[in-house]
Amino acid sequence: MNAVPEAEPVPPFDPAAAARMLDQFEDDGDFDVAATERIAVEIEGAAEAHGETELVWRARLLRATMHEYRGDLAASARILSDVLAWADAHERRPVAASAHRMLARLHRAMGDMGASLDHSLQCVNAQDDTTPVSIRIACMIKLGDAFARTGSPDAARERYEEADRLAIETDNPYKRIMALNNYAYAEYEEGNGEQARAVLARLREVAQAHGMPLGFSVLDTVARVETLCGDHDAAERAALAALDALSGEDLTQDADAETDLLLTLALVQRRKGDLAAALRTVTQVQQESERLSLTYNAAQALFELSEIHAAAGDYKGAYLALSDFNAAQERLSSAEREVQARNRQVMFEVAEARRQAEWFREQALRDALTGLRNRRYVDEHLPALLHRAAAEGSPVTIALLDLDHFKRINDTLSHEAGDQVLTAVAGLLDTVETGPDGFAARLGGEEFLLVVRGTDPCRAVTRLEELRQSIAEHPWQPLTGELPVTISIGVSAATPDSTQRELLSEADEALYRAKRGGRNRVHLAPNATAPKRRRWRDASPLAS
Ligand code: GH3
Ligand code: MG
Ligand code: MG
Repeated sequence: MNAVPEAEPVPPFDPAAAARMLDQFEDDGDFDVAATERIAVEIEGAAEAHGETELVWRARLLRATMHEYRGDLAASARILSDVLAWADAHERRPVAASAHRMLARLHRAMGDMGASLDHSLQCVNAQDDTTPVSIRIACMIKLGDAFARTGSPDAARERYEEADRLAIETDNPYKRIMALNNYAYAEYEEGNGEQARAVLARLREVAQAHGMPLGFSVLDTVARVETLCGDHDAAERAALAALDALSGEDLTQDADAETDLLLTLALVQRRKGDLAAALRTVTQVQQESERLSLTYNAAQALFELSEIHAAAGDYKGAYLALSDFNAAQERLSSAEREVQARNRQVMFEVAEARRQAEWFREQALRDALTGLRNRRYVDEHLPALLHRAAAEGSPVTIALLDLDHFKRINDTLSHEAGDQVLTAVAGLLDTVETGPDGFAARLGGEEFLLVVRGTDPCRAVTRLEELRQSIAEHPWQPLTGELPVTISIGVSAATPDSTQRELLSEADEALYRAKRGGRNRVHLAPNATAPKRRRWRDASPLAS
């Protein structure tokens, strides 16, 4: 017989330290993809072993980011969809906010600006008091980007300013620089050189005050803005500094970062009129793009080459380069279309899964037979409704309804016939006007609940009396033959401090009296009688 292997000792794990580490990745945009992924996998495994569920999902978020950096948007989207489902189901709003923010970025990368804007908005909506400010800032920046790219520059400016304000409040210069960099780039893309400059001046102040050197992406923005404003020397200095800053960084992601910066440099040199230098730079882009198989940047290089030829008056060269560019673009877009189609499919599946999850959540709060709300819905929603109503000083009327002699229907006809009666009664209940967040529910068996909101209890009682009558007068004959179908109703009215339990038991007591009084009638609890109604004002005179 084999010896039982000794249990592996679980290595020490410090959840707080892991959470801090994940926070840091949330905060810091520069990653070494391979190393970060290893950390994410490690944290995920350890958190799983220690039952730290939230950390497990946060580590998965980080893994999704790494997939995205590697260009595997589909893998990223799949993880994000799972994270979102978990975060929604467990109401972890900061985690949901981060997932939405990343989905906004994925959609933007795929050119779907509408979906990107949608997720950016959801990202902001998913935030609450427990959301770390750094995440709120990042979401606000994403929202700004999405507005900028969907042609709403004013809305974008507002978000960038808000992000900057939050970053000032929490003393986060790194996030301030991110917000201002994207803000300046958005102004550049709008063609507003001077506004972009003004934003960059603010950015420089922050960097100086904190002794932070400008990163390559900020310098790239500076180069483009200065070209737009016509200060070609400043633009060239910035473009060269950007390349310098990049070479100082030890990044393994963003294979195309260098060729991107070189393309900016070529643009700057051409605008400056230094066509020979521009030509050299473009040649370098072409070589690098070839070496690294960067088809997108290779095509961009051909476009820049055509512009350089045109600037030199070499229209034939310009024409040829442009033809090459068009051909490259054609090849590229068919390859891109394939990738896009694949990614769109994944996004569609992700969205579909989400819709289904929502559908299941919704179904879990409905009664299967009648489609009315169920007891679980009542328990989840009634306390909050009473609370809101009390705060607003708006009336709530509660009615418990029980079918009369229902056993007779079951016993004389069949359980199926009974079910059909229940469904039909539910249909009639559902026609009662219940106000903004009032509802009809089946509590179980042949017992129902109506919650009428925003209507004076007296008027609500009139409606209930009409309901009772309409049930009694319904043409039941085809379904129940000679057996009548009637209902007894017990009514209570909420006071500003009544609890769900009190209200239901008052209504139950009233229902009992309705039954005792001969059935097929509405009975009011003492609190639901006329004089009390003066304590309420109607939420909306139109509601009733
Ligand atoms: P009362 O007027 O006093 O309310 O008389 P009743 O016959 O309605 O009495 P009671 O409330 O005790 O009986 C309820 C019956 O409803 C008992 C059960 O057979 C039946 N019932 C409960 N749930 C269902 C259901 O889902 N479908 C059907 N067809 N019958 C059900
Ligand atoms: Mg009953
Ligand atoms: Mg009954």
